Amino acid sequence: MSAVSYPAAEPIFAAYAHDMGPAAAVYTESVQEYEDVEIKIEVIIELEPEPEPESESAPVSSASVPTPPPAPEPVLLSVVEPAPEPEPEPYPEPYAYPAPEPAVGEFISLGIFELTAYCLCARCCGIWSAEHPSRIGTGFVQRSASGTIPQAGRTIAVDTSVIPFGTYVKINGHVYIAEDRGGAIRGNKIDILKPDHETAMRFGRQRAEVFIKVVG
Ligand SMILES: [Zn+2]
Repeated sequence: MSAVSYPAAEPIFAAYAHDMGPAAAVYTESVQEYEDVEIKIEVIIELEPEPEPESESAPVSSASVPTPPPAPEPVLLSVVEPAPEPEPEPYPEPYAYPAPEPAVGEFISLGIFELTAYCLCARCCGIWSAEHPSRIGTGFVQRSASGTIPQAGRTIAVDTSVIPFGTYVKINGHVYIAEDRGGAIRGNKIDILKPDHETAMRFGRQRAEVFIKVVG
């Protein structure tokens, strides 16, 4: 076969050279290989930078050349005046953090307790009862373990390692005072003093949430 020669794409390179401007020269070379494949190699060489055009401040007659309108003031879109930081709200004086402890006078829960009831009879209090045979005729005054005169509706027996003497204890909405102890009252157990034995036995064994009053 005979080799086919394609004309060089002169218009394209001319356009390149035009785009590059006079600061660049376009060198092109066409190489013909094989039979009908033309490989074009372009080498674009950066030449010296184009010199800055001469300032057009040459003295000219203002009458012959109209004064161009002044360039508009540049608008700086990227510079935004930051909004001023708001002044922090002043703390009320004196500032107080929330109390980590329950407030004095508040009742806090101790959880669920097992409740029983007793009275001042010898069956309930043994030798500590004024009704005990050994106390009859001795002038013995029955007192609670804390020394108070026990009173139904106020006195309860507690485990003092759980509820100290003198603690106000709210059970089912009624406030008692921990004044007494009992041999079977250990841990989360409370014995509630009732006015008579029958009432105590009728109370039986119950469970309820117990609250104690916070003291200062
Ligand atoms: Zn009793």
